[in-house]
Amino acid sequence: MAAEKQPKALKKRFYRKRVPLFSLINKIKLWPSRTGQLHGVRSLVITGDTARVTTHCNKEFTISNSLNSRAARWLRNKWFSRVCPKCGVPDWKLEKYSTTLFKRHQGSMLLKDKEQ
Ligand SMILES: [Zn+2]
Repeated sequence: MAAEKQPKALKKRFYRKRVPLFSLINKIKLWPSRTGQLHGVRSLVITGDTARVTTHCNKEFTISNSLNSRAARWLRNKWFSRVCPKCGVPDWKLEKYSTTLFKRHQGSMLLKDKEQ
C-alpha cells in the first residue's frame, strides 16, 4: 500500500490489528452500537471474559472480549453511521479516531506490562 500524505498536525496512532478489544475501548473510549451509532464510553467494567460498557447517554452494553466480534470489526474499520447526539463525542476525539490505524505487525498491543 502506498503511504498517504498527511498533514503534520495529524499524528497517526498505530494499534495492532489483534489488540485486545477491552484495552482498545478503554483507550479510545468509543463504542459502536448495533444500530451504527457511535457512543462515548463513560466506564468499562471488566469481569473475566465480558465487560459492561456504560455510555455517556446511560446505555449499557455487555460485551465479550472477542477480536472477531462485530464491535471489534467495526472499531478497527471505523464504521459507524452516525455519532450519538446525547453522548456528545467531541470532534477532536473523532478526528483522533479517524487517524488511528490498525496494522498487523505494527503498533501497540495496549498490554499493560509492556512499554508503549
Ligand atoms: Zn450515546
